[in-house]
Amino acid sequence: MGRQPSDLKNIIAAHAHRSHIGGMAELKRQTNAKVYAHEWEIGILEGQRKATRVSLWPKAPLAAYKLQFGLAIGFDGHKPCPVDQSLKEADHVGPLTIVSTPGHTPGCLSFYWPEKKALFVGDVLVTWPRVEAGWAGLTLDMRQNVQSVGKLSDFGDVEIVGVGHGEPIPHGGIEVLKKLREQKV
Ligand SMILES: [Zn+2]
Ligand SMILES: [Zn+2]
Repeated sequence: MGRQPSDLKNIIAAHAHRSHIGGMAELKRQTNAKVYAHEWEIGILEGQRKATRVSLWPKAPLAAYKLQFGLAIGFDGHKPCPVDQSLKEADHVGPLTIVSTPGHTPGCLSFYWPEKKALFVGDVLVTWPRVEAGWAGLTLDMRQNVQSVGKLSDFGDVEIVGVGHGEPIPHGGIEVLKKLREQKV
């Protein structure tokens, strides 16, 4: 991207699952950036407690079972990363507005960038291996997660949706969100 590590000023954790925070301590060390997370996720990020376990029983999509298995048996460690500041609904970091979107985990955050009509949703929805409102096997409360999709679909002006797993949705993000809020759980 033509940037130096020192250009990175802020790191925000969407939530504290290993696939999102595994390299965060090292990234913070190399950049000296400020780390933010929802209060509920901070203890996990800092290594004081483990992420909430999920069932071993395989749930669709099976392509994601490797991650579900890791979270089920506790093979999900990461190097603890100190958090500088907690975030909650309607806070701001740079151009981003923080949106509380619990369900996948209690402290899941999404980020809305109005000028770009872009929404970054972590694991509230996934586009890999198919587009859906969260992986059932890794989401702690699917009903609440779909409610969070509904909340995001009320934003109105969303073109781009960036997700934690899979390709971004470059156009028509709001239509995708409106469809997924109807997903049965
Ligand atoms: Zn996750
Ligand atoms: Zn994830």
